[in-house]
Amino acid sequence: MRQIFAILLIATLTACAGTTTQYSRADQQSVADEAARLDKISKAGNISASYTPVKLTDSRYTPEDRMAMIAGRILTAAAPYCGNRIENSFLLGVRSYQNAPVTITSPLAVKASGEKNDIQYGDEIQMVDTTSIGNGTPGLQTLVSLLTTAAKNNKPLTLQVQRKGVSNLIRVRLQPVPRCSFGLVVENNTQELNAYADGKDLHFTLPLMNLLSDDELAFVAGHELAHNILEHVSKTQNNAAVGGLGGTLIDLIANSQGVNTGGKFGNIGASMGVMKYSQDFEREADYVGMYITELAGLPPEAAIGVIEKFSKQNPESIRYASTHPANAERAANARLTLAEIRQKQATGQPLQPNMRPPE
Ligand SMILES: [Zn+2]
Repeated sequence: MRQIFAILLIATLTACAGTTTQYSRADQQSVADEAARLDKISKAGNISASYTPVKLTDSRYTPEDRMAMIAGRILTAAAPYCGNRIENSFLLGVRSYQNAPVTITSPLAVKASGEKNDIQYGDEIQMVDTTSIGNGTPGLQTLVSLLTTAAKNNKPLTLQVQRKGVSNLIRVRLQPVPRCSFGLVVENNTQELNAYADGKDLHFTLPLMNLLSDDELAFVAGHELAHNILEHVSKTQNNAAVGGLGGTLIDLIANSQGVNTGGKFGNIGASMGVMKYSQDFEREADYVGMYITELAGLPPEAAIGVIEKFSKQNPESIRYASTHPANAERAANARLTLAEIRQKQATGQPLQPNMRPPE
């Protein structure tokens, strides 16, 4: 059934430069109720999640490793919707230090069928099939070359890893899986709470990563991925008839009012003019992003958690729409989308966004 959604999305993509899906739109009363609720939350000391959070990482993970773990799941779950922008991957993050074994830092790999062992953060890779993996950069190069070739040929590989506190090597057979071939970028030289998609990569600023939980970041990754899948960047450029400005759209999901804008994005905005997605594209990215989050096995309720945190950061955004619809509307729409997803699951319908009927 996933394949049908993929084909539908691609078929409708080329038709016009508008939206593709029948995204949720809450009525005025629901938006007003949500605004009152967000007012309370923005004044409360702590925000407690209304769902059971899923923790994918801990303090050992660098921001890049954490993003690989979280967005990696999103890029894999959405593979059927990414058209020809897919590639096979072992989803393995590794790091090598000088003269030290190559160490696993994002253990998001998929086990081959029947495999009982698993890989863990910190495992040191000793062998891949019959090839021994050396230390440092040469070892890393050998490993990357073996992984890349096997992924391309869709062949499983057997890793032998040394785990702290375990005397014998552990053998784990891994299977490459298709994932959307968009890159991940952590922006660490800015104070802004922001994430954006440029048609090629998904970008997340460090302050945003520090504000959000793992599943909230997963939803943001799903939102940004939806912008790329639905080609909102090129559609915006077409709609605005502004060629030559480059492919970057600043997607201020947190409304950066009140935070330092002297960082990288401020400079980009000043020098090339900031283009913004239409609010309909934002509604659509929230809608499709929640479906992708659920398909990745993570709670789509995290969308509401993100909006609550943004409302606390910037209470004015509860009612004031800027680059995105006002937070009250986003939260009310998210509740409709959540109900739609749960209803489809309860009645055994395929878990895919509703498509806009042809005009
Ligand atoms: Zn957006």
